[in-house]
Amino acid sequence: MNINKTHSSPNYNERRLGAPNMILLHYTGRPSCEEAITKWLCNPEKEVSAHYVVDEDGTIYQLVDEDKRAWHAGVSEWKGQTDINSLSIGIEIQNPGHEFGYRPFPLAQMESVAALCKNIMERFEIEYVLGHSDVAPKRKVDPGELFDWDWLSNRGVPNVHASE
Ligand SMILES: [Zn+2]
Repeated sequence: MNINKTHSSPNYNERRLGAPNMILLHYTGRPSCEEAITKWLCNPEKEVSAHYVVDEDGTIYQLVDEDKRAWHAGVSEWKGQTDINSLSIGIEIQNPGHEFGYRPFPLAQMESVAALCKNIMERFEIEYVLGHSDVAPKRKVDPGELFDWDWLSNRGVPNVHASE
């Protein structure tokens, strides 16, 4: 699996609860992947980040080391845990989102998301693969209704929306 490491984010700190047990999927909600990376996820003024970003063409960027705590979940909760950033690997999937023209996730992009999740699952005991909207349902809708959780499950990534 090719991972582009040309960008890195200063927005992270140390994990507080040991190894991650979940993968949290987002959409960037920005018009382009370039903008999402340079203006937001790697911008110290924004104080947000993710471990990975997957562009629409399938390119995978790694911005933060997996052993560090990236800042993507915000105020959130899952199964009584509230420090979701400490417990998760965050993947931002490029899509303009509902604000800038929500559109289907291309196959090449989905293939990379599936490959990346499977790769992470080889290294960590991942119990939950879920979306930002699952852990912050009152604030967040991403990755949204066009994200195909069943397809992801069929590609070998069981998740909270489809458990095949
Ligand atoms: Zn999100």
